[in-house]
Amino acid sequence: MAKLQSVRGTHDILPDEMPRYRNVFDAVAEIGTTYGYGEIATPIFEFTEVFKRTLGDTSDVVSKEMYTFNDRGGEGLTLRPEGTAGVARAVMSAGLLQSVPLKYFYRGPMFRYERPQKGRMRQFHQIGVELLGVAEPAGDIEVITLGADLLDRLGVMGDTVLEINTIGDMDSRNAYRDALVAYLEAHIDQLSDDSRERLHRNPLRVLDSKDAGDRAVVADAPRFDDYLTPHAADFFATVLAGLDRLGIGYRRNPFLVRGLDYYCHTTFEFVTGRLGSQGTVLAGGRYDGLIGQMGGAETPGVGWAAGVERLSMLAEPRSVAPRAVALVPLGDAAEAEALVLARSLRRAGVVVDLGYGGNLKKRMKRADKIGAARAVIFGDDELARGVAQVKDLDEGGQTEVALADLVDRLAVRRG
Ligand code: ATP
Ligand code: MG
Repeated sequence: MAKLQSVRGTHDILPDEMPRYRNVFDAVAEIGTTYGYGEIATPIFEFTEVFKRTLGDTSDVVSKEMYTFNDRGGEGLTLRPEGTAGVARAVMSAGLLQSVPLKYFYRGPMFRYERPQKGRMRQFHQIGVELLGVAEPAGDIEVITLGADLLDRLGVMGDTVLEINTIGDMDSRNAYRDALVAYLEAHIDQLSDDSRERLHRNPLRVLDSKDAGDRAVVADAPRFDDYLTPHAADFFATVLAGLDRLGIGYRRNPFLVRGLDYYCHTTFEFVTGRLGSQGTVLAGGRYDGLIGQMGGAETPGVGWAAGVERLSMLAEPRSVAPRAVALVPLGDAAEAEALVLARSLRRAGVVVDLGYGGNLKKRMKRADKIGAARAVIFGDDELARGVAQVKDLDEGGQTEVALADLVDRLAVRRG
C-alpha cells in the first residue's frame, strides 16, 4: 500500500467534527431561504476557460493556485477554485438571464494549490450567495445584510467587523488607476518584486499586498474616494445609508479592492481577530461586468463567499444529536427480539444502539462508552413476561416496562 496519509492540504471530516460543518451549511440554507434565495449546485470541475476568463490571468488563483488537468479525452479542465464563475456559466447554459433577478446560494468544496496552514487548505469549503440582475444599491444592501444575519445566526457577529469600500464605476476606476500608477512609480524602489510586476499589469492589486514594505508605501497612496464620479459616490452613500438604517456597523477600509475590470462599486469583507492572520471569514462585492465578459448579455451581479473551515472553528454547533438508547438483549431469543424492537424504536425517532454481541458486562460498557442515556435490558425471563428493564444510566434507577409500551415510553416527542 502506498502512503496512507491524506494529501497535503486536505482534511478528513470525521463524525465528531461534522456537526460544526453541518451547522454552517445549514445556516446558509436557513437564512438564504428566508431571503428567497434558492440553492444551486454546479459541477466541481469546469472547462479551464471558465475560470481564466472570470478570474483573469494575473490573479493569484489563476496564476498559481488552480488544479488544472487534461482528462482522458484531452479536455482542459480545472477543479473549481471558487463558486461565482460556475454559477454564472450555469445560468448562461440554462438561458436564465431573461428571468432576472436570480437569487442563489451554494455550498461545497473548492480547490486551490496554496501553502496549507490553519484556516487555509487545498480542498476547503465555501458557502456563498449570488444576486444577478439587480443594478441598484438595494442589491448590495441585501447581500451584505444576508451575510450579517448568517454570521449572527452562527453567533460570530460579535467577534467580526465589516470592512467596506467602493471602487466606483469604470470612469472612477480609470481616473484612480492613473493616479495610483503615478504614485507607485514614484516609490518603485520601495516596492517588492511582486508589486513592481503588478504595477502595470494590475496596479490595484498592489493595494492588498501583504508585504510590509509595500504596505508602508500603500499607506500614503491616493484614496479612491477622491476619484469617484458623482454617480459612484451616490451609489456608495445609498449602500451605507441602508446599512446604517439596519444598524449594521462597518469600518471604511479605503484599500479594500478587487483588481479585475468587471468588479465595481461595493467591496466588503467580514473580518475576525480570532483566527490569526486568516481572519477574513466572508468576502464579496459587486461584479457588473462579469457575465458580459463571459459572453452573456450584460447583467449586473453582487455576491459573497465565506470559508466554512474558518466559520466552523468560530461557531458552536447549535444542537447535538439526541442521546442513544442502548439495547441489551441477553440470550438468543432476546437477541432476535432486539432486531425488531430496534427498528420500531428508530422508526419512532429514537436513536438506538444495538450492541451486536457480548455478555451483559461488555454491552453495558459499550452503552457507557457511546454516552447512552438509557439501557433496555431483557433476557429470557423478561421476554416470557413481555417486559424489559429500562435503566437510567445517569441516575442508575431501573424500571420495568412492558415491551408493548416501550416505543411509546421512549419515543421522541415531536413539536
Ligand atoms: P486570501 O487573501 O486569504 O487568500 P482570498 O481573497 O483568496 O483570501 P476569497 O477568494 O475571497 O479569498 O474567498 C472567500 C473566503 O473563502 C475567504 O475569505 C476565506 O474565508 C475562504 N478561503 C479562501 N481560500 C481558502 C483556503 N485555501 N482555505 C480555507 N478557506 C479559504
Ligand atoms: Mg487566496
